[in-house]
Amino acid sequence: MNIKECLLCDENNYPVDTATIGSLIASSGQKHLWNERACGAGGIDTVVVHYMSATAVSPGDPYNFTRLLKIFCDYGVSSHYLINRDGEVYRLVPEEMKAWHAGPSIMPVPDDRTGVNEFSIGIELAATESSGFADAQYEALGGLCVDIEKRYHKKMTRVGHDMVAGERAVALGLRKEPKVDPGPLFDWPRLIRLIG
Ligand SMILES: [Zn+2]
Repeated sequence: MNIKECLLCDENNYPVDTATIGSLIASSGQKHLWNERACGAGGIDTVVVHYMSATAVSPGDPYNFTRLLKIFCDYGVSSHYLINRDGEVYRLVPEEMKAWHAGPSIMPVPDDRTGVNEFSIGIELAATESSGFADAQYEALGGLCVDIEKRYHKKMTRVGHDMVAGERAVALGLRKEPKVDPGPLFDWPRLIRLIG
């Protein structure tokens, strides 16, 4: 598994406009966009699939890597992995740390655990609401899931952000707005076939 590292921490010199990822994070008063997992890495048992784009700030180039990285810094959120349209996989947060991707959330019935960030690995796919997902992204995501399950010696529960932070989470009063990613265009059977 070829994974490139671009950590969301104050030591990252990746250039963003006239600044760096590291300086943007430091100027928000943080050292990194993650914290400790109470459960430790041994408690990880779930993968959460998301999509994100920079359409709002960069409509002509919604998958621009720099713009996507800046969104994390601007909003103080994070994800363990980002997979671009070419299927390149970037690690943004060490797996053993808790990334801030799911927000207020609850696992589907009958699991019902809340605070999904605590025990999950978040994976963002560069996509928009209407773009669908590239073949290379399915291949990379499938490969990454296989890699994760091999390393933890267990099958992960795979959920979409919309399954843990959607209408049910709103109805339960956990959050105000439902998340809709990865949405109906994401082909779950295809991912499951790729994982085997
Ligand atoms: Zn999401």
